[in-house]
Amino acid sequence: MKTNMALIAAAFAAMAANAELPQAELAMVRDYGVKKLVSIGKSAPKALRLTKSEAEAMHSAWMAERKAMGYAERRPFKYGHAFMKWAAMFRDSHPDYLGLTPYGTRGIMPEGWPKRFLHQSKLCVSNPAVVDQIISDWQRKGAKEYLCVCENDGMMGFCRCERCRALDADLPGETFTLHKTDRYLDFWNRVCARAVKVRPDVKVVAYAYSAYRFPPRKARVEHPDALMLGYVPSIFDDAKADIAGWRKAGLKRFFVRPNFLCNKGVLPRGLERFIYDNYRQMREAGSIGTDHDLYGDGDPATAFEVYVALRQAVDANVTFEAIERDWCARFGAAAKTVKAYHARVRERCAARWPGLLAELKGKYGDFLDDSHFSAYIYRLHTKEDLRGDLELLESSGAATGSDPNAAKRFADLKTNVRHQMMTWCIEAGDASQGRAELEAFRAANRDALGPFLGFWYRRFPDPGDKEMMRSIEKLPPGITTAFGADRFERSAKAAQ
Ligand SMILES: [Zn+2]
Repeated sequence: MKTNMALIAAAFAAMAANAELPQAELAMVRDYGVKKLVSIGKSAPKALRLTKSEAEAMHSAWMAERKAMGYAERRPFKYGHAFMKWAAMFRDSHPDYLGLTPYGTRGIMPEGWPKRFLHQSKLCVSNPAVVDQIISDWQRKGAKEYLCVCENDGMMGFCRCERCRALDADLPGETFTLHKTDRYLDFWNRVCARAVKVRPDVKVVAYAYSAYRFPPRKARVEHPDALMLGYVPSIFDDAKADIAGWRKAGLKRFFVRPNFLCNKGVLPRGLERFIYDNYRQMREAGSIGTDHDLYGDGDPATAFEVYVALRQAVDANVTFEAIERDWCARFGAAAKTVKAYHARVRERCAARWPGLLAELKGKYGDFLDDSHFSAYIYRLHTKEDLRGDLELLESSGAATGSDPNAAKRFADLKTNVRHQMMTWCIEAGDASQGRAELEAFRAANRDALGPFLGFWYRRFPDPGDKEMMRSIEKLPPGITTAFGADRFERSAKAAQ
């Protein structure tokens, strides 16, 4: 029998789980701009590329739909990768500001490395002159309330100098890029210490991202009222435990900036419930809101997931069941079938994700970036699964009611599941279906398949398309393959 205390604790836990969340201060689901829609198309065959006017029409349709849902961005302060121009600005005058690469250069510009990666250079965070420069730049611009020190994007270029290494808390044998949190927290502490002297109400905004997202091992948050952390969890991080770890180290304020929706593939991932739960979990842990990055509203593989994120941005307390009901209602009389379809996909993905992840971790080390999963999503499905999906959808016949939009959505969903089956064969190396058949299907169904197939062609270029191959060849190494950054670090190590 439970004790009174246990019963009371259980009652409180139940109350907490059902508690109304205040509406988020920060609510964002980004969108892929027109320019990017056109440029990603350049990696796809001509027949699939969007013209500028097609991209504009598509983008404004997305925005109209968001508005109709009641979505409006809420971002009370600005942030983002803060030092993208530093490598270009300081390479000659202050190379000491930039991270020491394994090649012995400052900034990520070893011989032959494409210039387009220059903006991903990291800082030499142990250098006191870096903090001087940040503070004087901030003061020159009026010492505003929010001071953004989010490190640049990408996994390459973390400083390997002795002083930065001394700030790390690596475990023996750990890969260099696994745990860089302590050096960054030390850096943010020093920025905070200087900034609060200038302006006591300052908020120093920093991403806890990629190699520095896990809780610190030895450093502590020394200015909890000044630090605003933008936590970027990966899909299968234990976000709740990580935030608890950060809290233990003194963290007070944070928001969540996931890349969960940065998908570059065709096969479904069944992550809608996960995205819903993560949002609630993080809000209950004290986040001021979530800012989702994504590649686009028009990606059929993530459309339901994006819808979940948008609905939670509009209303923090919306239930998953309400979101699911409304999503499925968009398919008219086929709503029940669509609900069963998503449940079926979600169930099998949930069962296979842990095994796949364990395998990838064994192969690539412990770090995983969400966009890198795209190359492996086909492993969550068998051909029989996908055939079963299609049979289920087709069992509903043409019963889509009189709403032409609903009928089109349902027809498009079936087209996409057919497309998934064909794409699966290419990705899984199943020779029963040829590449030419897939290309012809895509050209004939481009409207239903969405504008993001360019990402797919970066991984699976068609050797027959000369023009496309030329454009692929121009892409730097590391972009065309999954886990590219990791490879960079490895080849850099080999070059040592
Ligand atoms: Zn350094």
